Amino acid sequence: MIDKNRFDSESGYCRMLGHDVLFSYCRIAKDGIPCFKIMDCWFERLPIDDYMKSNYSENEIDKILEKPASKITTIYDLIEQAKKRAL
Ligand code: SF4
Repeated sequence: MIDKNRFDSESGYCRMLGHDVLFSYCRIAKDGIPCFKIMDCWFERLPIDDYMKSNYSENEIDKILEKPASKITTIYDLIEQAKKRAL
């Protein structure tokens, strides 16, 4: 069992933001839940697999690790929804 805030003071370079961030940010980066890249970014330095299993269910982990829809996909979806409303 690994406490949720156990690694909060660890820091590492974030390729999405272009600067160092604390693990405390990574674990809440997506509206209070971990960033979808948390496994990729931390597996070399922390027991991230055990950390995730200690704090989230399998279903939650699957949802957390889902790649977010790209902005283009989102815009496309909005256009499609608007077309349907116009019919
Ligand atoms: S887990 Fe997300 S926020 Fe944290 S370093 Fe990786 S990409 Fe950046």
